[in-house]
Amino acid sequence: MKKFGALIASVAISLASFTPFAHAQDKGMVGISMPTKTSTRWISDGETMEKLFKDAGYTPDLQFADDDIPNQLSQIENMVTKGAKVLVIGAIDGTTLSDILQRAADQGVKVIAYDRLIRESKNVDYYATFDNFQVGVLQGTSLVNGLKERFPDTKPWNVELFGGSPDDNNAFFFYDGAMSVLQPLIDSGDIVIKSGQMGMEQVGTLRWDGTVAQARMENLLSSNYTDAQVNGVLSPYDGLSIGILSALRGIGYGSEDLKMPIVTGQDAELPSVKSILADEQYSTVFKDTRELAKVAVSMVQAIMEGKEPEVNDTKTYDNGVKVVPSYLLKPVALNKENVKDVLTKSEYYTADQIGD
Ligand code: BGC
Repeated sequence: MKKFGALIASVAISLASFTPFAHAQDKGMVGISMPTKTSTRWISDGETMEKLFKDAGYTPDLQFADDDIPNQLSQIENMVTKGAKVLVIGAIDGTTLSDILQRAADQGVKVIAYDRLIRESKNVDYYATFDNFQVGVLQGTSLVNGLKERFPDTKPWNVELFGGSPDDNNAFFFYDGAMSVLQPLIDSGDIVIKSGQMGMEQVGTLRWDGTVAQARMENLLSSNYTDAQVNGVLSPYDGLSIGILSALRGIGYGSEDLKMPIVTGQDAELPSVKSILADEQYSTVFKDTRELAKVAVSMVQAIMEGKEPEVNDTKTYDNGVKVVPSYLLKPVALNKENVKDVLTKSEYYTADQIGD
């Protein structure tokens, strides 16, 4: 809020210096490189930043890279060529940007890693994100709460694990956060991973692809659950959860005899919000992308004004070369009890969009 206040103030200042005969002062170009449009969150992230930058007198250049690494590289290269002063980057693969970032740094361009850490480069100045370990803790906790609630008499609980994309640093934080809750229950025998598939090398889902998750879930079911029921699935992202649920529904889960397992998620995407209200997906984690956009925009403003951006974490995010000063926002756990209330009160969605 404080940051937003500062933003409003600076918009007011730039309006005050506006005369009917002159264009509002152009404070420079900012490149915004988002990874994909397949998940609505990135569209919202990109468009919110674009608007805030425009309102504050900057010229944003917003590009989406279609989950294609060469595409993202050439879009960023273009931004640098066109004279961007700062780049805000949500990386597809956090390790592939070192060369272009070196070129950007040689021209004095500053770089903010957006949501996902950019790895193996010293040319990353700040990181704006959510507390990613905490996202995983919320997912693990909600999985366990759901198991207790829906399967009070079934122990051990059969659970399968899914991870995010192994080229996204966040995926490891989500997984580790969730395992900090689940591992003690696996050790005590309360949770059994029947497939035995554990660790990001075995459970990761390249490019966060829902169809890949669906296919893996179908395989897990046919190889391990012909004479047993699965009670829970750790899913780190709504797009994967929808694929996982579809595999489960495909073989009859979701009835009185074969209850739908507890399936977690992340991002509060509309199809998942509806699924939660329809008693299919159990939970999601809400990360208000509008707040993250505000953090990134205020970081850029501070940099452009020669000030130090505000950070609240200087030890967690080691990118392999340096610890990147970060601002972490708080994620919020949602399930059927609070999903509609939180999302409509914050005006993230209208009641009509949720349609319940
Ligand atoms: C983001 C998540 C998102 C995932 C897939 C991660 O880096 O932090 O919010 O679910 O990418 O887009």
